[in-house]
Order: sequence, then structure tokens, then C-alpha cells
Amino acid sequence: MTKPILCLDFDGVLHSYTSGWRGAHFIPDPPVPGAMAFLIEAVKHFDVNIFSSRSHQDGGIRAMQSWIDYWLDQEFGWDKGADVVATANQARNDLVYPTEKPPAMISIDDRALTFTGQWPAMETLLTFKPWNKLPKLAVGVGDIERMMDAGQSMNLNVDGTVTPKPVSQ
Ligand SMILES: [Mg+2]
Repeated sequence: MTKPILCLDFDGVLHSYTSGWRGAHFIPDPPVPGAMAFLIEAVKHFDVNIFSSRSHQDGGIRAMQSWIDYWLDQEFGWDKGADVVATANQARNDLVYPTEKPPAMISIDDRALTFTGQWPAMETLLTFKPWNKLPKLAVGVGDIERMMDAGQSMNLNVDGTVTPKPVSQ
């Protein structure tokens, strides 16, 4: 049975990409948490195509394959048991590395908007930030929940902090 194609971006999606670009064949950072488990699950449902700006550059595909091999071994290696290794090997073998954009049913990319039929404002595009460049909340979810439970209004500050909103007199 033919599976639908899931097109997966690499940098900023599988690769955490915290060190920035160091060349098509050099991949310095660990995976985004959950990436290897996601690949193992995704190949059961999709023809998973990993397509990146690395894909058409010398050594790019080989580097992505080696990096995925390494991290699958790290997270789903022999210490986890033969069944786990078998599912990791299935993912490793089933992944496809096209050199041109595939006719995907759906794509995951950290630098894209889902087109809704409404054209985005230039400002929206010009100020776009991928998920890992957004300001981080400087307070825990628990703190926010406590303030909400107490009926406390909050200010979300530009530095990512959340503070109780002063009660107006
Ligand atoms: Mg990317």
C-alpha cells in the first residue's frame, strides 16, 4: 500500500540547530527532543521524505543520514532491547532523502506559514521567527496556573516574563 508523503525539514525540525549554519555536511547539534521517536512512529504511517537546503549540496544527504543513524543508536540502541532496535532500523531503512521537493501530502518546516487563502501582511513575513527563536516564558506554567486559579489578571511582558496585573483602584 502506498503511504502518503510526509516532507520533513531538517534544520530546526529534526536537528535542534542551536549553533547555526556550519556547512551542508556538518551537523553539530543534538535532535529536537522527541525527533527520533517521531521518525520511528511516522514511517509506520507515511513515506517520510527528509528534504532540506542540505539535500542538493555535496555531502548534505550523507551527513543527515549519518546524524540520524547516530541519534537513533543513541536513543534506541541495543540497551533498549532487540524489538526497539528493530523499529529504529525500520525507520532508518524507510527514510527517503529526495534532492527535489517531493509531492508531499503534508510538510513540517520551522520556517513556513500554512496558507489559508488569506495573503499574509509583509510585516508578518518580515518579522517571522521560528519556534526556537521566540522569547521563552520566564515563569513556569505552574506559576501561571496559580495566578489564574486566584483570578489574578496577568501582564505578558516583552522580555517573556509574566507578572500580576496591578489592580486598578
Ligand atoms: Mg528549517
